[in-house]
Parts: sequence; structure tokens; C-alpha cells
Amino acid sequence: MDFDDTPEEAAFRAEARAWLEANAPRPGAPDAWAGMEGAPAGSDAFDEFVERCKQWQRTLSDGGWACLTWPKEYGGQGLTSAHNMIFNQEVGQFGVTLGVLIPGLGFVGPTIIAHGSDEQKARYLPPLVRADEVWCQLFSEPGAGSDLANLRTKAERDGDEFVVTGQKVWNSFAHVADYGILLARTNPDVPKHKGITFFLVDMRSPGIEIRPIRQINGAAKFNEVFLDEVRIPAGNVLGEVDGGWAVTHTTLMYERGQIGATRDRKLAQRMIDAARAGGTLDDPVVRQAIARAHTREQILRYFSLKLQTAIRQGKRPGAEASLMKLLVGNHLRDSAVDGMMVAGLDAVAGGEGPIGGDQWKDLLLWQYEVRFGGGTEEIQRNTIGESVLGLPREERVDKDLAFRDVKQSG
Ligand SMILES: Cc1cc2nc3c(=O)[nH]c(=O)nc-3n(C[C@H](O)[C@H](O)[C@H](O)COP(=O)(O)OP(=O)(O)OC[C@H]3O[C@@H](n4cnc5c(N)ncnc54)[C@H](O)[C@@H]3O)c2cc1C
Repeated sequence: MDFDDTPEEAAFRAEARAWLEANAPRPGAPDAWAGMEGAPAGSDAFDEFVERCKQWQRTLSDGGWACLTWPKEYGGQGLTSAHNMIFNQEVGQFGVTLGVLIPGLGFVGPTIIAHGSDEQKARYLPPLVRADEVWCQLFSEPGAGSDLANLRTKAERDGDEFVVTGQKVWNSFAHVADYGILLARTNPDVPKHKGITFFLVDMRSPGIEIRPIRQINGAAKFNEVFLDEVRIPAGNVLGEVDGGWAVTHTTLMYERGQIGATRDRKLAQRMIDAARAGGTLDDPVVRQAIARAHTREQILRYFSLKLQTAIRQGKRPGAEASLMKLLVGNHLRDSAVDGMMVAGLDAVAGGEGPIGGDQWKDLLLWQYEVRFGGGTEEIQRNTIGESVLGLPREERVDKDLAFRDVKQSG
């Protein structure tokens, strides 16, 4: 494990930090996510949140700090993953988020770079860099989440177009998206992983209906998306027809890495602040909760240093991304529960005073997003069991059956 920057990395870090200090809102500025949680889609607060995300991306782009690893010809900076990691560590200390742009910048762009034609890259990457187009992911369906390849949305060829009909669900930010990445079945006569095609779809196409889903914390970030004979030009297939599963792998790998990335939320320190404000800093039970949070933060710090060393050496994290996602999820869950205990009644009935109870209540509701999104914890454990521990692979009875012969529930 390598704890130190090389001289070149240290210089890059100093340059990034100086630029951020001059251009990004200060740490401790009003929460960059304000307006997202609790604000209904279409409200002024939500619109302001969307605009704030776009504005920050444009600031990055103007300053030469957007999409660091993307090719220069498409608006990126042509730098390495190590540079990207350093910049992300620095930007994490400031009060900014890319919010609604995260699907586009975090995994749509990298997937187009890996699998797109030159025309597709030239058409779709520069508007992503400039935050001119928002993207969403249309993968999950009511019967296809963990078992994504079970998807039933179908796409049939009609001349130069595909006609797509089906239903998607849990589609983050689809209600504000200009484009979506969409998986649909183009061949039901082959096993399920082999008949799927990956499309780029204009969200304003006739036949698309978007219905927001209201969450328990008041936000309406997710949607159901219904597709009724939506026509997609054949030129909008990413990769090969029926070859969408390989493309999907790329998307999911980037998405998982994105969700598992450690953001130092300083939860142990926040617990100390709450306990001090509430006069419970001497309580041994509270002190143990703080010590547990601190211990988890140190484990995460060392694990992320291990990942960073691998990235610096040009290795791609595989099952380590699953492990990181699990560790982050456990930390958020346990800290939310302990934070509620430390904040006590303030977390239930007070909230905005010095104890800051609201933040623990919000964390308690929000941590599920991290634990389910991008593949649930059980699925991450399956990956770790199979590819790290060498346990027997899960039984896959439908692996060699034509999709149309697989028994479906409902
Ligand atoms: C914050 C968030 C954002 C999301 N954004 C998007 C988005 O933008 N676009 C999109 O398409 N989808 C999105 N999703 C959906 C997400 O990908 C799915 O929720 C996830 O893959 C799980 O699928 P499911 O909800 O259908 O649960 P299911 O697959 O039905 O799973 C139900 C339960 O069974 C368990 N389970 C299932 N299979 C196994 C197995 N083989 N072994 C052990 N346990 C198993 C699961 O772990 C889970 O606990 C998002 C979800 C969240 C939480």
C-alpha cells in the first residue's frame, strides 16, 4: 500500500486544491443537495438543485477540470485514473455535487467511450461535459433488478428503427433527463444474456410516459417509465444488436465504483459535535458509538488507499468495488443508528438546533439508497463469495434456456 503522492501527484493535488479554493463553495456552505431531498419534482427548489448541478459542471469545464480521464477531442482532459482519484478526494472537501449529472458523467459517458462509434462519441460526449444534456438509466424492471438479464421490455426491428414496448422502474432523475440508456430484448430465442441490446434513447420520444415515485423522505428522485411503441433509430444502438450484455457490464462496473467511492462524511466528528451539544460526551455508551464510527472510518480510509494504490498501478478494481460498497453501506447504516441514539429525542422531535438531529434522521432514511442501488448487498456478497473466496457459483438453471422458454412469475 502506498500512502504518499509521487512528486508529480503532489503538484497536481496542490494545483487542484488551489483551483477549488478559488472556485468551489467553501466546505460547510449550504448543503449542495439542498432542494433534492424533500422537494417534489417540478418545484422551484428541485429546479434550483438541477441548475446548481449544471452550473458546477460548467465551472469545472471552463476551468479545465471536467471529465479528467475522457479524451481531449471530446472535451475531457486526457488524464489518468490516478489524477481523477486525487481530484475527487479534493473536491469531496467542498460543498458541491454533480447530482442529476452523476448517471451521465459517472457511467453513461465512460460506457460510450468504451463501446461507442466515433459518431456517437462526437454527438453525445461534448454535451455531457458541458452539462447541456442530462442522462438517466433505464435498466431495472418490476421483474428484473438483481436478475437484470431477465428483462422483458422488447425491441423489434422495423426498417431503420427499433420499436420498443415495456416498463422500467426506479429510474433516478428520468423526469429531468434528456436521454436514457435503455436495455431491451431483441431476441427471445437465445439464452437471456444473449438477446439484449443497449440503446441510447431520446426521453422526449413519443410513447414515453414518466411517473415519479414518492419516497419516504419526501423526495421524488425515482420514476417509473412506460414505453409504448417508442421508435429508436438503429443508429442509437450502442455496441452490437443482441450484444448489449457486454456493454451493460461496463456500465455496472462504473456505477458500482461510483456508489462505493468513499466520501468522507466525518460521521464520527459529527457524533462528537452532537454529544457535546447534548451534554452526553461523558456517557460511556455514547463514547463507544463514537469509537465504532471512528474505527470504521479508519478501515475505510485504509481500504480506499489500497484501492488507490491498485489504480495507480493501472489495475482495475473488480470484486474490491463490491467489498468497498459493502463497507460503505455498513458504515452508513451503523452510524445512522448510533447517531440517532446520540442525538436522542432531538433526532425525532427537534432537528435543526445545535444537536443537529435532522441529519441523523435523514441519514437513516437515505442509507438504504446506497445499500440497494447499483446491486444489493446480497448480490455484492455473491460476487465476493464467487470471485474472491472461490465458493461454488450460484445455481443458474435458466443459463442455457432460450428466454421465451424460461418460466416467468406474474
Ligand atoms: C438509490 C437507487 C437508485 C437506483 N437507480 C436506478 C436507475 O437509475 N435505473 C435503474 O434501472 N435502476 C435503478 N435502481 C434499481 C436497482 O438497480 C435495483 O433496486 C436493484 O438492482 C435491486 O433490484 P430490485 O429492487 O428489483 O430487487 P430484487 O432483485 O427483487 O431483490 C429483492 C431482494 O432479494 C435479494 N436477492 C435477489 N436475488 C438474490 C440472489 N441471487 N441471492 C441473494 N439475494 C438475492 C436482494 O438482495 C433483495 O434483498 C436504483 C435503486 C436504488 C436503491
